[in-house]
Amino acid sequence: MSVQEVDYPIPGPREVQVRVAAVGMCGTDLHVFEGEFAPTVFPIIPGHETSATVSAVGDEVTELAVGDRVSVDPTLTCGECEFCANGQANLCLSWNGAGVARDDGSAAELMVAPVKNVHRLPDGVDLHLAAMIEPLSCAIRGYDLLPRRLGEHYLIYGAGTMGLLMAQLAPRAGAASVSVVDRNVDRLTAAREVGVELVAETADAFSRPRGWEVVIDCTGVVAAIEDGLTRVRRGGTFQQFGVAPTDAQARFSPFRVYHDELHVVGSMAVLNSYSRAVEMFAAGAIRADRMVSHAYGLDDYAEAMAAFRSGRGRKLQIRPELTEPVALL
Ligand SMILES: [Zn+2]
Ligand SMILES: [Zn+2]
Repeated sequence: MSVQEVDYPIPGPREVQVRVAAVGMCGTDLHVFEGEFAPTVFPIIPGHETSATVSAVGDEVTELAVGDRVSVDPTLTCGECEFCANGQANLCLSWNGAGVARDDGSAAELMVAPVKNVHRLPDGVDLHLAAMIEPLSCAIRGYDLLPRRLGEHYLIYGAGTMGLLMAQLAPRAGAASVSVVDRNVDRLTAAREVGVELVAETADAFSRPRGWEVVIDCTGVVAAIEDGLTRVRRGGTFQQFGVAPTDAQARFSPFRVYHDELHVVGSMAVLNSYSRAVEMFAAGAIRADRMVSHAYGLDDYAEAMAAFRSGRGRKLQIRPELTEPVALL
């Protein structure tokens, strides 16, 4: 990892150049850095959770203007393969997330993106916190794949960013209750601060012997996944939301999946959920102000990643304008 001068990014005719305001760091960045995320091609500039201000536009861009405050969707798809043609662009055969796969991301002063990926922010939205829109769009995609029946009980593993986002959306999807487990008690405090009432270090602490209708893993950790699969109520749904290492294996009971009619669903990145995330964020659907805890300048990227890896803080951001780390909470 190093901070380097790179070529000045010039937008193509239908591209936009943005000056980065904030970039969220997330578990995927760690997997990318460790070489555990299969699609990555190195070298790469990381950063896929981006808020920014438009600094230049290509010759054929009329939708946006210099000075517009925006959120940048990192997803780049071919539009030509059988999955794109079938309305499943998040499963594109040449899926490319800027900052995680082939194109460079936003942990930089400037970045270029296709105009269709650049979403203008409504007035009143905090520009830095708006970097949370990208993970929110992933959470909305996750909910698109869940049954969303009124009055069901949700159990969520992990009180990191994704767990907290999924937990905050659950009542809007009809949840009667939301329980969150995490072994890190600081994260349980964060869960309480964003409005989750039922938190514990293990699901054994909750009295729900027949299990939960919806169990969502937001950790990618095999032990949590294996535990979560045993907590699904008959007829219920388990969602694999957390990103496990590409070669990880988990054990489950095929008998239970058969006999108890369990549904097991994945959720990959974003599909047609980015604009909804912008609207939900502007509507105050999540407490981003209780989630973003620290911000670092570009030169302190390694320090930010070390802090994230150690589990310190909540959502960490890179803000290129900063010269020193700042504690926000
Ligand atoms: Zn992310
Ligand atoms: Zn495709």
